[in-house]
Amino acid sequence: MKLYGKSGLKQRLDGITAKGRLSHAVLFSGHSGIGKKTLARYTAELFLCENGACGSCPTCRNIENDTHPDVIFVKKQCDGKYAIDLFREVMSSTVIRPNNGDVKVYVFEDCDTMRPEHQNALLKLIEEPADYLRFVFTCENTSVIPETVLSRVTEFEVPETPVKDCEQALLDCGVDKSKARELSEMFAGNIGKCKAVLEGGDEAALIETARKAAEALGAKDGFTLAAALSDAKKRTDFSRVMEYLSRMIRDALAVKSGCEAEFFGKKESKRIADSFSEEEILNMLDAAFELAKNEIYNLNLALSQAYFVSRVLGG
Ligand SMILES: [Zn+2]
Repeated sequence: MKLYGKSGLKQRLDGITAKGRLSHAVLFSGHSGIGKKTLARYTAELFLCENGACGSCPTCRNIENDTHPDVIFVKKQCDGKYAIDLFREVMSSTVIRPNNGDVKVYVFEDCDTMRPEHQNALLKLIEEPADYLRFVFTCENTSVIPETVLSRVTEFEVPETPVKDCEQALLDCGVDKSKARELSEMFAGNIGKCKAVLEGGDEAALIETARKAAEALGAKDGFTLAAALSDAKKRTDFSRVMEYLSRMIRDALAVKSGCEAEFFGKKESKRIADSFSEEEILNMLDAAFELAKNEIYNLNLALSQAYFVSRVLGG
């Protein structure tokens, strides 16, 4: 399995495994899209493959294709949460010995989104496991995971992927060169986010919303700007739109000082640069940053959107 830009962490995992010291419960922490799921699969290979996660034996191939009977990705519901009675099912399946090899691997994603009663059940599961059980967990934020659980797992912080490795990962997936570069730079090496955009998911829609907002901004069209921003229906989506918009505004500032725009929406950035003074653009950037970081807590979503329009086009 290719782990793009993670050679340091891979070496550590390989080294620990070679010494027979890989913990029965491993936790990968890091931002969304950083590669935690890929690492979870790789760790399952380390647990099960007889040749040190070779990537080419039937065991490794089955793990990569999600068809290995002893690697269980514990499924979440379609709302992205774990079912309330999930652990009853999981607990009863853990008493069944592995099908093929010596061990059985359970992968739990996003443990930070689990209910406290799930985390307690998890604790019971990892405290005194049967000798054939192994666990891999992933989470973004370890601060919400109880200390009692954390003290029983070995945590690995997943490092960011360098932009050039992300670009290579996309090229290897058949993405064309210019798109691979654009996305890798846009998401600062986050392969998961690049792929989410390529698959046309929510992230792609948020970028398009930001582009429309930038276009309206360049045209000084407050009504269209407000309409574009209202496409973001959730607070977190609005923050993301503001993040993308702030990058385009930053590009407008670069254009003002004679540099090239770097981000997508170059046309929109140039238009903003033509329509506003440097001081006005700085004010815009300030407002976008504020909202991207969700720093204005006392405003609801609709008011936040109105606040932005009035700050950038109000006077
Ligand atoms: Zn193998």
